[in-house]
Amino acid sequence: KKVADRYLKREVLGEGTYGIVYKAIDTRTGKTVAIKKIRLGKQKEGVNFTALREIKLLKELKDPNIIELIDAFPHKGNLHLVFEFMETDLEAVIRDRNLVLSPADIKSYIQMMLKGLAFCHRKWVLHRDLKPNNLLIGPGGHLKLADFGLARLFGSPDRRFTHQVFARWYRAPELLFGAKQYGPGVDVWAAACIFAELLLRRPFLQGNSDIDQLGKIFGALGTPKPSQWPDMVYLPDYVEYQHVAGQPLRLLFPMAGDDALDLLGKMFLYDPKTRISAEQALEHWYFSTIPLPTDPSLLPRPP
Ligand code: ADP
Repeated sequence: KKVADRYLKREVLGEGTYGIVYKAIDTRTGKTVAIKKIRLGKQKEGVNFTALREIKLLKELKDPNIIELIDAFPHKGNLHLVFEFMETDLEAVIRDRNLVLSPADIKSYIQMMLKGLAFCHRKWVLHRDLKPNNLLIGPGGHLKLADFGLARLFGSPDRRFTHQVFARWYRAPELLFGAKQYGPGVDVWAAACIFAELLLRRPFLQGNSDIDQLGKIFGALGTPKPSQWPDMVYLPDYVEYQHVAGQPLRLLFPMAGDDALDLLGKMFLYDPKTRISAEQALEHWYFSTIPLPTDPSLLPRPP
């Protein structure tokens, strides 16, 4: 049975933040796609139009490191988003104990992630919910960012559902302090956490509540001084934390080279105004020093 006269439904791939994702064949192109069914709920009708208008903008967001949104249509009270089908994701790569990631492999993944981010930030689109399972890996080994712009469109995922608590580990300190206005720096912070996770092969800062998350960040990197981050004290949920010194990145990541640590330190700066941008990060010497990033087709992948 065809959906929207075009897609042949196959098996369910999984359940995500916004609803069920299933595999399908696009009869127009013969390609395999992933269709994300988003419950629109009982919103006022106008909201759907707004969502659809914004979805149109996301369809224009085309880049080799962004998952392509092929189609979007309402069907039986749900919004269906059609994406290119991807084989695996970075979380599977990080978790697979049989995969060895060389410094050049890590560099390649980080470079692809930052390219996707820089592209979207140039278009003023934030991701806001970046995590390893949102970084999908395609047949050629290309890493592509998924779910761009969805967090803002459909609201932040409901953290009460257990499978989403992991997203907390990638939250920037300004979000944890309740910032209502924030920028691309939130995605750079998440990218830094993913960088750290590739180096450690486990999540870097695993808080079990928002407060604990800040505690974990401060315990590792040290409490921010108001001189380092002047605007911090004006944030809605700001509370003074007991002073912690923080550890040198060299001790936290003994396996990382100087080039990686220098970039990581700039991505983990507390003040979103001084934190490096995705664009600047791509210019960092980490990407031009030996070992150079591995060609995507040669990256290790789960079987
Ligand atoms: P979450 O919201 O938790 O990040 P998603 O809604 O993105 O989860 O995805 C739910 C499931 O569908 C996951 O198991 C994911 O691997 C799969 N999936 C999502 N997008 C794609 C895609 N483009 N290709 C293949 N599988 C996908």
